[in-house]
Amino acid sequence: MLRLHEYAYHRPDSVAEAARLLAAHPGRARLIAGGTDLMPNMKHGLFTPEHVIALKQLSELHGIEERDGELVIGAAESLAAVSRHPAVRGRFSSLARAAGSVAGPQLRNMGTIGGNLCLDTRCTYYNQTYFWRNALGYCLKKDGDVCHVTKVGKKCVAAHSADTAPVLMTLGAVADLVSVGGRRTVAVADFFVADGIENTVRGWNEIVTCVRIPLPSARTRTAFQKVRQRGAVDFPLLNIAVAAELGEGQEIESMRMVVSALGARPRVIAGLDRVAAGRRLDAAVAEAIAERAFEQCHPLTNIIVDPEWRRAMVPVYVRRALAELV
Ligand SMILES: Cc1cc2nc3c(=O)[nH]c(=O)nc-3n(C[C@H](O)[C@H](O)[C@H](O)COP(=O)(O)OP(=O)(O)OC[C@H]3O[C@@H](n4cnc5c(N)ncnc54)[C@H](O)[C@@H]3O)c2cc1C
Ligand code: SF4
Repeated sequence: MLRLHEYAYHRPDSVAEAARLLAAHPGRARLIAGGTDLMPNMKHGLFTPEHVIALKQLSELHGIEERDGELVIGAAESLAAVSRHPAVRGRFSSLARAAGSVAGPQLRNMGTIGGNLCLDTRCTYYNQTYFWRNALGYCLKKDGDVCHVTKVGKKCVAAHSADTAPVLMTLGAVADLVSVGGRRTVAVADFFVADGIENTVRGWNEIVTCVRIPLPSARTRTAFQKVRQRGAVDFPLLNIAVAAELGEGQEIESMRMVVSALGARPRVIAGLDRVAAGRRLDAAVAEAIAERAFEQCHPLTNIIVDPEWRRAMVPVYVRRALAELV
């Protein structure tokens, strides 16, 4: 049986109070929203906060509405609510699909979009019980000094594993963050860094309050594809998110593609304009885009599935995402 350590549970009435509580316990407090990632991690002894600060009851973090040319989604909205919301389904089908493919129904009812954005990175050698990790001698990300994936490097390459984040990146979304020091806005495309130990730019004292997505034009098309072992519950082995603006004659005006679940930071596929801009999305263009993605994606053994197979799946699922797009 995996038991939790003792901690103080706080249920603040406002975001300001939550931020004050967080600031009062530097390095000793953790935020909890749905708890679907935090709780297993605490049971595995990966986090042992003395204070846990609840967010889901805060009305300020709820609501999904169109406002000033944006769709604003409160950070504590559940993934189930996001995936079902008519504005999300109508305008951002890729986001509805991504939110609706996280884990399984129970976890989507509890898990939130803010928690998904701030999800810890995952690795075969890290997401294990304390006893398992102890037997291995731990690793760089927690309690040890060696990375079992790269063997030589002094860098953690655990996988970014959140389904909604790559989609939000392709949609040009931003996240609002609040701390006792004030508030700031960060583009989701700039939210992640290539460091598996702490892979976001969120400060330890900051709370994500909402994500805001610019409303798309009638010519915007979006798609999302996920590879996982089983059709439900499992984390991604690979995610492909794409968004494009198509012209009058269905030619591609611009395209953004993000592949994730490889390393600590979702990968923006570079150079798509060179092969796609001004052209219709026919089989040859799709093939050229798939080739670009394949060249730029290099899965590692951070997930217990053959990295060569995962790499081979990149062009397959890019082609599927492009077919979904049109
Ligand atoms: C069996 C299983 C399968 C899963 N499958 C998937 C999957 O396929 N895809 C996927 O993306 N995820 C998956 N998850 C992970 C998880 O369920 C989701 O990522 C979920 O969205 C996390 O949200 P939460 O509200 O439960 O986060 P929590 O567990 O409450 O928090 C996660 C982290 O985010 C921080 N946090 C939460 N809210 C905020 C906020 N507003 N501001 C700042 N920090 C915050 C917490 O401090 C914590 O560090 C799975 C989990 C399980 C147990
Ligand atoms: S990538 Fe390396 S350092 Fe990071 S969690 Fe895995 S084994 Fe540990």
